[in-house]
Amino acid sequence: MKEGIHPKYYPNAKVTCACGNTFETGSTKPELRVEICSKCHPFFTGQQRAQQARGRIEQFNKRYGKTAK
Ligand SMILES: [Zn+2]
Repeated sequence: MKEGIHPKYYPNAKVTCACGNTFETGSTKPELRVEICSKCHPFFTGQQRAQQARGRIEQFNKRYGKTAK
């Protein structure tokens, strides 16, 4: 690898989610903040949250003039 053209890679970057969960992953930044993770993603938490998320998508589509078809 050429020196100076590759960003520093952190194999144990700390990821902090909006739900409070933290975990480690490889990244070019030592710390990351995410909105959603495997602990709070609807796919992993079940149907109720998934339905809430779907409602938000419909709201978004309505607001920006797109129809969900
Ligand atoms: Zn989370």
